[in-house]
Amino acid sequence: MTIARTAVAEPERSEALDFDAIVIGAGISGLYQLHLLRQLGMRVRVFETGTGVGGTWYWNRYPGARFDSESYSYGYSFSQELLEEWDWTEHFSPQPETERYLNYVADKFDLRRDIRFSSRVTAAVYDAAAHCWEVTIEDGSRHTCRYLVTAVGPLSAPTWPRVQGIDDFRGEAYHTARWPKHPVSFEGKRVAVIGTGATGVQAISEIAKTAGHLTVFQRRPNWCTPLHNRPIDREEMERIRAGYPELFQRCRETSACFLHTIDPRSTFDLSEEEREAFWEKLWLVPGFGMWQGNFRDMLTDREANRLVSEFVAKKIRARVKDPQVAEKLIPKDHGFGTRRVPQETNYYEVYNQPNVELVSLLEEPFERITPTGIRTVRREFEFDLIVYATGFDAITGSLDRIDIRGVGGQKLKDKWKGGITTFVGVMVDGFPNMFMVVGPHTALGNIPRSIEYNVEWIRDLLSYMEQRGLSRADARPEAVDEWTRFVAKKGEGLLTNEVDSWMTGVNQNVEGKQVRILARYSGSAPEYRDWCDRVAAGGYRELVLE
Ligand code: NAP
Repeated sequence: MTIARTAVAEPERSEALDFDAIVIGAGISGLYQLHLLRQLGMRVRVFETGTGVGGTWYWNRYPGARFDSESYSYGYSFSQELLEEWDWTEHFSPQPETERYLNYVADKFDLRRDIRFSSRVTAAVYDAAAHCWEVTIEDGSRHTCRYLVTAVGPLSAPTWPRVQGIDDFRGEAYHTARWPKHPVSFEGKRVAVIGTGATGVQAISEIAKTAGHLTVFQRRPNWCTPLHNRPIDREEMERIRAGYPELFQRCRETSACFLHTIDPRSTFDLSEEEREAFWEKLWLVPGFGMWQGNFRDMLTDREANRLVSEFVAKKIRARVKDPQVAEKLIPKDHGFGTRRVPQETNYYEVYNQPNVELVSLLEEPFERITPTGIRTVRREFEFDLIVYATGFDAITGSLDRIDIRGVGGQKLKDKWKGGITTFVGVMVDGFPNMFMVVGPHTALGNIPRSIEYNVEWIRDLLSYMEQRGLSRADARPEAVDEWTRFVAKKGEGLLTNEVDSWMTGVNQNVEGKQVRILARYSGSAPEYRDWCDRVAAGGYRELVLE
């Protein structure tokens, strides 16, 4: 380890700062980071935009919102007591239950007293002389701290379509990620849903149950697979609880921290009949079996990908009665699994209902939103309610929305103009003492598993520093280069990275985000953790510690 001596002015003493650490966001990441930093004896403050805890599970309260990772693989694993106390009631927990769970966690660990709600962070500026961060809240108040942790989530900055007239609409209109807390009734109403990603697919199946008439506006269809959710009774929950150690161990070993793991065989190791039989079995596996448990070459070999896509296309054709509608629902521009696979419950059957119409925006693009509905280039539609399930400015969007400035006033957004560069997705050179939980270039997958790892890695680094009287950590540029090159290497040959999606940083609704970038680390989570573990075991030589 190199300990550089500062030539600049004496750093501000920690007691003179408002906090030792500020955490932005009170979702799964922020809650756990607060808990762990407190255990180091730090004075911590969490600033949260919402009025309650939960992050993703606070904001996304749209009808049908639920996990698509198994509930028991998604909850926190760090507390034995919590694992013993909390019972999941469904294999894929619905949003209200998850929000209750995160509130339970906040109460159990007495987290609320250090969280300030209704406090959107607008800026964070590094003061190199005092080596501290100054964080500004929307109300104008400013707060200083030594360490800044962004726990803002990779999918938390909602985006609306760039279409004229959005504000003209006189009916009800909601973005799924800003869904109101009051009940929204669809009973007898003429409803539009725009967007058919994982969110739209969940919302559409639910809204179609009661809407008078539902019109789904689909731009590019996605490949969806059945969720196969079911309740968990007391006995089953006890069995799950008894198996927690093995379950979390499995999540540590699989590539993306899911319970499902890639089949080591190639698609071509099997005969056509054997392959079909394997896929038929996978089709019945709850959750991400079909996506995460498939052949190892499904996302690298074009022919392998074409074959599995054809299998799923057949499934869609069998479920949708009108062949023309079925064809519209089958993606033609990307193969199965190359975008995040939405998990569905009776989604395709919705299009057999007389009260549901599918409109392909590829055939008839939007012209504008009108005071009474939506006009495409072909038709005028009238609606009582419009649902925007149009996704997020993903991965960097929530960071971009904060004016983050590092050494010399450099903006993080500018630093990344030519491409994202990070050290293990947690740090950025020139932004000392700033740490990102599940930032760009980290392993995502089953997100809480990645969050727990990131949060603990940050805690360990800060603990290491505190023990040695160090109070400034910056990534070495050469370490950033090396990690960024590794991320690029891991993305090579992956069909996923040849497709426009939030995973490749493309969002047509955000200026400047029309080109694919290396937004996420697409190697395996165990490999990611090995890299980070080596950094810690080696005394953080990749960082300049002062
Ligand atoms: P998304 O996957 O980005 O989907 C957004 C949808 O809106 C797409 O169908 C997109 O069409 C459409 N869209 C966007 N702008 C449009 C425009 N201007 N005109 C027409 N259509 C437009 O976002 P999401 O569905 O919210 O999901 C994002 C991610 O959140 C998921 O992939 C998943 O990782 C996560 N998620 C998880 C869960 C869960 O765990 N249960 C549930 C929901 C979401 P194009 O495809 O043509 O761009």
